[in-house]
Amino acid sequence: MIFKARSLSATDQPTNPNLISVRGLGFPIRLLDTSYETYYCCDSYSNYLFLKMASFLRATGVAAFKNASRLYSSAAGVSRASSPVFTNRYFLASSLAVAGTASYYFYSSMTTPISATSPVFKGDFVDLTLTHVTKISHDTSIFRFAFPEADDDSGLITASAILIKYKDENEKNIIRPYTPISDPRTKGYLDLLVKVYPEGKASKHIHSLKPGDKLAFKGPIIKYPWTPNKDSHIVLIGGGTGITPLYQLIHEITTNRAEDKTDITLLFGNKTVDDILLYDELKSIAAKDDKFTVYFTIEKDAPEGTIPGFISDAVVKKAIGDADLKTLKFFVCGPPGLYNAISGPKISPADQGELTGLLKSYGVEKEQVFKF
Ligand SMILES: Cc1cc2nc3c(=O)[nH]c(=O)nc-3n(C[C@H](O)[C@H](O)[C@H](O)COP(=O)(O)OP(=O)(O)OC[C@H]3O[C@@H](n4cnc5c(N)ncnc54)[C@H](O)[C@@H]3O)c2cc1C
Repeated sequence: MIFKARSLSATDQPTNPNLISVRGLGFPIRLLDTSYETYYCCDSYSNYLFLKMASFLRATGVAAFKNASRLYSSAAGVSRASSPVFTNRYFLASSLAVAGTASYYFYSSMTTPISATSPVFKGDFVDLTLTHVTKISHDTSIFRFAFPEADDDSGLITASAILIKYKDENEKNIIRPYTPISDPRTKGYLDLLVKVYPEGKASKHIHSLKPGDKLAFKGPIIKYPWTPNKDSHIVLIGGGTGITPLYQLIHEITTNRAEDKTDITLLFGNKTVDDILLYDELKSIAAKDDKFTVYFTIEKDAPEGTIPGFISDAVVKKAIGDADLKTLKFFVCGPPGLYNAISGPKISPADQGELTGLLKSYGVEKEQVFKF
């Protein structure tokens, strides 16, 4: 079932009222706090299953379905005009019939696992144990959580997120999404980079955990399923902890250079140099990979090698250089101010919202922009 959210905030903060309208029902219904979880997981887990099904179909040579599956994702993929699937309705109908039949067999052949080895994240909450905490800045640490078994696979793909859940002092479920920064293929554990907010429920709870403590996780939440060379040049624009999904993409592409030739330009804005998360990792990738370029903007006391101020028109233009705008794909992730300035806010996990801001003023098309 697909839900359409009416009033999740632009930043997907779950503290807002959760009025959900079920497509076709015609009126909104109010759900309890778990609606956030329901919303995310229904939408993304079915997306995940769909992707798994698409790869199954690809493996069995159903090429038309491959085109259709690209159109389902938020990727630019094949345009409607040029897709043979959409130029022939009968072909589309028969492709969907094949897909439907295959999906029936796909689902009915599934017991619980959907990969050869049972993944940790397959739609239910699972308790993971905190093993290490590494402080990386005054307000941010990396938390390593062990999977139940040392050789367990995560079941995640790039780019995807997970939900965490705990009960607060009033026995209320607190649920928030986070983006693992460890390679999704890593067996046995995942790493979360979490910034603590003084009044933040989940971030304070995670920061209060000690090695040996458990936390409930659920996933996967598929955000932008990456395949090598999906886009030829990607421009990543992020601020603060918004780096985490962008880092997933950077890591995925730069560790697969034999196959993936995608050019990557990262514009990463922060308040001070001490706020730059994953600084060493990003510098080290840039030093080794000539198809990855990073620009750091710093609001206060910008040191040499960084750009003073915000990610402005001049900074974006400098980073893009003379690249043909039409060939670029933009990814945006950060605080509300950054969305407003660069791309306009995202409305909900399923609604990217209108394209506004700098990118709109450049004549970039909505389909060229993905807001995490
Ligand atoms: C898909 C997705 C992936 C995410 N991945 C990560 C990640 O990898 N690492 C990470 O640290 N966070 C990530 N977040 C944000 C995370 O889900 C929480 O929103 C964040 O940790 C704050 O939650 P909280 O419960 O501590 O704060 P809440 O209790 O929800 O908020 C309390 C107060 O904290 C402040 N606050 C909360 N969030 C922000 C913000 N983003 N900017 C400025 N002030 C804020 C506000 O003053 C707010 O009123 C992600 C969000 C999404 C939607």
